[in-house]
Amino acid sequence: MAVIVEEEKCGGCGSCIDVCPAQALEKPKPKIKIEIIVDRCLECGECISECPNDALRFPF
Ligand code: SF4
Ligand code: SF4
Repeated sequence: MAVIVEEEKCGGCGSCIDVCPAQALEKPKPKIKIEIIVDRCLECGECISECPNDALRFPF
């Protein structure tokens, strides 16, 4: 399990990348706003709290 991003809400600010303790969030290309490396996510919720656009959530 991992967080999911609602692409239409994400502004690509990168704040979630900075707070993730597991390096589970990346911006691999300029065109991609945010990519989640599912296997790395610890489900800590830090990124969800950090996102200014409410674009991240757990899928349950
Ligand atoms: S829930 Fe935690 S481990 Fe998972 S992507 Fe967000 S900050 Fe990283
Ligand atoms: S913090 Fe939110 S708006 Fe910013 S890149 Fe992450 S998901 Fe997108």
